[in-house]
Amino acid sequence: MDFENQVAMVTGGRRGIGLAIAQVLGQNGARVAINDVAPEEEIEKTVEELKKQGINARGYVADVTKKEEIKAVVQDIINTWGQIDILVNNAGITKDALFVRMKDEDWKAVLEVGVQGIYYCTKEVLRYMMRRQYGRIINISSAVGVMGNVGQANYATAKAAVLGFTKSLAREVAPLGITANAVAPGFINTEMTKKLPEEVRETWLQQVPLRRWGEPEEVAQAVAFLASRAAGYITGQTIHVNGGLVMI
Ligand code: NAP
Repeated sequence: MDFENQVAMVTGGRRGIGLAIAQVLGQNGARVAINDVAPEEEIEKTVEELKKQGINARGYVADVTKKEEIKAVVQDIINTWGQIDILVNNAGITKDALFVRMKDEDWKAVLEVGVQGIYYCTKEVLRYMMRRQYGRIINISSAVGVMGNVGQANYATAKAAVLGFTKSLAREVAPLGITANAVAPGFINTEMTKKLPEEVRETWLQQVPLRRWGEPEEVAQAVAFLASRAAGYITGQTIHVNGGLVMI
């Protein structure tokens, strides 16, 4: 994979899967911009780490649910690097509860980041991809978006929506040299899953044929493939990185 002369934007790229994606793209030559809702010094720490690895990186405090903040980030990337070739819509949150007990604000917050956020980021970046008639959009969904999960009706709804969006977008932008695909991870070792109770983690593990949780790097490799020129004839698809948890 060679991303020399390419620019990637990875949302929620400060840690976890987003950081692994930024690393893999950067290690293969891409200039990488990450945005996150963490305090500026935390994002700068990540950017410094990426730079130590020889990656040309920039970091932004910007919330994917805030249209004006995303607009400003995209404008700054364009002013600095002149283009965006790859957009990875990675930012996502969970706020788990059984549906009957789910608070209105927790339903809304998960959909806001997981769906509305993808809308703002894609809308903004797409304008520049269309001008250059080239682009790779990769949306991070989840195995839960396909199979559902107790306590995650909000999250499953958001992640299923991502798949419908990806397919529709793929059809619309195909004539413009732009592809749109999704990656649906299963259970991956990150801060998001560390907060699950041990018995829940154990129950899920029993359902994974490969009998282990995935690593962020393993998701990042699938994203990088879809982002590469080698994946030019793949669009509207979902790569499942889940140890066999769901087989479609
Ligand atoms: P994570 O460790 O919680 O990282 C998510 C990142 O997104 C964090 O850096 C977070 O910022 C950032 N973020 C949250 N809300 C944001 C917003 N409004 N605007 C910008 N950035 C925001 O999660 P992860 O496990 O790496 O998950 C990454 C993606 O993979 C998510 O879409 C998740 O749903 C999906 N996924 C994860 C798993 C899994 O098992 N881990 C499985 C399937 C799908 P802060 O650092 O400030 O909180």
